[in-house]
Amino acid sequence: MAVEIKERGHVRLPAFLERGFSDLRREVVARRRCSMCGTCAAFCDKIGIEDGEPRFIEDYDTVCGLCYTVCPRTFLPRAEIEQKIFGKVSNDDDVLGVYRACYEARTKKADVGERGQDGGVVTSILAYALATEAIDCAVLTTANGDWRPRTEVARDYEALKEGAGTKYTLYPSVIGVREAQEEGCSAIAFVGLPCQIQGLRKAETANANQPYELRIDGVKLLIGLFCTKNYNEELLDFVNEQVPLERVKKFDIKGKELLVYDNDGGVVSISLNDLEVFVGDGCSVCTDFTAELADISVGSVGSAEGWSTVITRTERGDELVRGASESGYIEVKDIKAKGLELIKRQAVKKRKRVEETEL
Ligand SMILES: Cc1cc2nc3c(=O)[nH]c(=O)nc-3n(C[C@H](O)[C@H](O)[C@H](O)COP(=O)(O)OP(=O)(O)OC[C@H]3O[C@@H](n4cnc5c(N)ncnc54)[C@H](O)[C@@H]3O)c2cc1C
Repeated sequence: MAVEIKERGHVRLPAFLERGFSDLRREVVARRRCSMCGTCAAFCDKIGIEDGEPRFIEDYDTVCGLCYTVCPRTFLPRAEIEQKIFGKVSNDDDVLGVYRACYEARTKKADVGERGQDGGVVTSILAYALATEAIDCAVLTTANGDWRPRTEVARDYEALKEGAGTKYTLYPSVIGVREAQEEGCSAIAFVGLPCQIQGLRKAETANANQPYELRIDGVKLLIGLFCTKNYNEELLDFVNEQVPLERVKKFDIKGKELLVYDNDGGVVSISLNDLEVFVGDGCSVCTDFTAELADISVGSVGSAEGWSTVITRTERGDELVRGASESGYIEVKDIKAKGLELIKRQAVKKRKRVEETEL
């Protein structure tokens, strides 16, 4: 079937994709599917994130189509993206998506180990990539002393370390990719959640000729984080009533508890059931546990305490993990069969959760 192509605003869209921001608002935001990834705002300077959702901040072309095209929640041509990025397509039984290898790994840098969430592997791979000039910056989600997240365009080792650690808070971090580009970076790494990786891959594969303001070809590395669900900022207000946020050293989720470690060595445990009310709307429709479209995916499930699970998916991802290991940034060993089984179980659980919600 021949597809009619029309020129609209920034993009050339097949006629059947002629949709604009009002469609995105209706189909995604109003239906509470928005993941607050920030991809729409990163690609269009007329869109901003206000009160936890994307809004127009300027007059607009109603059917420009750019935001609708890159949003991970409007549609996700997974097979097409996999074919373009990985050269093959996963089937329903490949619950971890397309991948090359799966490891347990941890940093060999003591100062990263102190700050890293699990094995400090994300920070260490980025440090190796910066040192070897594979990238010239990394877009991170960092936090101030009060744990409110913000994006940081990290260009050196100290800034990478500042960004280490998990913030269990939704934040439109993809916007940071645009900031990096505006600061003149041309080999950008991005670390983010599965939804954010999906948005960037959609942009990368949608149509090579699209004259985006944000030059997606400057994004050289996508590190995805495993994710079961994420929480809105009200979570922080809730925690603050029990432990003042400026005294919190680290958050961690273990089993069915959120653990809040304070600077004095104390730990407060909060049941995840009590936090369900803060879970982001868009998480309810997400089926991607391991950030299946990333170059490298990293999480904690499947590895021992103090180690991270690392899945490499592209040649670039493989090379960086191998290089970081050979250059003494990380130590790496094959994942145990039991660990791999655990990851797969979590991935299936997330997919089933959505199937059950949609019944
Ligand atoms: C919301 C959330 C939910 C998660 N859920 C799971 C889970 O269910 N199971 C599991 O195994 N792992 C989960 N992870 C991943 C895990 O917490 C660690 O991030 C991962 O193991 C990497 O650890 P590390 O020590 O190698 O990373 P580090 O070296 O500490 O680096 C962490 C990186 O994560 C980035 N980051 C932190 N918070 C955010 C955020 N909110 N959005 C985008 N980027 C962020 C930072 O910029 C930093 O680059 C989750 C992470 C997040 C952010």
